[in-house]
Amino acid sequence: MVNEMKYDYLIVGAGLYGAVFAHEANLAGKSVLVIDQRPHIAGNVYTEEIEGIHVHQYGAHIFHTNNRDVWDYVAQFSEFNRFTNSPVANYKGELYSLPFNMYTFNKMWGVITPEEAMAKIEEQKKAACITDPKNLEEQAISLVGQDVYEMLIKGYTEKQWGRDCKELPPFIIKRLPVRLTFDNNYFNALYQGIPVGGYTRMVERMLNGIEVRTGTEYLSNRIAYESIADKIIYTGAIDAYFGYCEGPLQYRSVRFETEILNKPNFQGNAVVNYTDKDTAWTRIIEHKWFEFGKDAKGNDLPKTVVSREYSSEWKTGEEAYYPVNDAKNVSLYERYKSLSEKEKKVIFGGRLGAYQYYDMDAVIASALEMCKNELNS
Ligand code: UDP
Repeated sequence: MVNEMKYDYLIVGAGLYGAVFAHEANLAGKSVLVIDQRPHIAGNVYTEEIEGIHVHQYGAHIFHTNNRDVWDYVAQFSEFNRFTNSPVANYKGELYSLPFNMYTFNKMWGVITPEEAMAKIEEQKKAACITDPKNLEEQAISLVGQDVYEMLIKGYTEKQWGRDCKELPPFIIKRLPVRLTFDNNYFNALYQGIPVGGYTRMVERMLNGIEVRTGTEYLSNRIAYESIADKIIYTGAIDAYFGYCEGPLQYRSVRFETEILNKPNFQGNAVVNYTDKDTAWTRIIEHKWFEFGKDAKGNDLPKTVVSREYSSEWKTGEEAYYPVNDAKNVSLYERYKSLSEKEKKVIFGGRLGAYQYYDMDAVIASALEMCKNELNS
């Protein structure tokens, strides 16, 4: 059971936030124990090799950042390939380019020039009478017009979030670029790629030389674990930590149906989004294209692995994926945050500990920032 040895830090969660902190603390000469309730390390970036393909078991993770320090940081642990995310949207059998760019507008309206596309967006925005967008629907229409909203955003977003677009915050859609150029690169990021050999190997290297116990629950063994470390880094759900005393925060969960197919190429792209509301899944991922590019090597593998992604409201016992950052949940989170500030021995971080819709680079940046304060690194 619980080791009697006293550690400087107990890290709850072996995902990116926990692994970065563990690595830095170990480098700084601190004694560290990492525990994770799952049977594996790497949290939601966990990849597993199936048929020679690194399968993203908790959904597509594409590393992208504008932060040079973060890019250099991850490069210590893995080489990255030159993958560029260019998802395709399938709306009732018609394919559109993502993110929203001149290829999308050309297919949608037949426009040829950026001026024509801009005029079309302006005309639709004007017709919708939106000046100061207050929710995701208004934000989307004012960015790309009514047609793109109806066909490529509304159905997908309502499936993904289980809420009407009028009830969702505008910032979610602002994650996506809108371009008046012919450019299908989904991310406005200077640096982008997938770790060669998979994310699990990258996190393994971060945790090299560090004691890690998987399949180990913290909250149900809290008293024992609290006493073995001077400080705790907690990356689980903040509301669970406090026994949901203020009421549960809402999360979205995701379920994957993964299949091995006896063909080399199923959809010709890593990600295809299904943007109509009637298709039950939100997207299909074909994992091999994350790592092989669209070259002969990918096609040489006789099989392919695909995952259909279904979104649902999170219930206790399931994996929580996305915090629902609407007004109600944000104010509930603020109450938990105040409670967390009184826990002098515990630092809360990561997507669930901070209840933030973080990309991987933001998780790493926030972990490194915390290391600066905590370890003077
Ligand atoms: N989105 C959409 N249509 C798409 C892809 C994304 O409407 O085809 C919206 C949706 O609301 C989603 C948001 O854009 O929640 C952010 O998308 P992103 O791809 O960043 O989501 P993630 O990869 O984090 O699931």
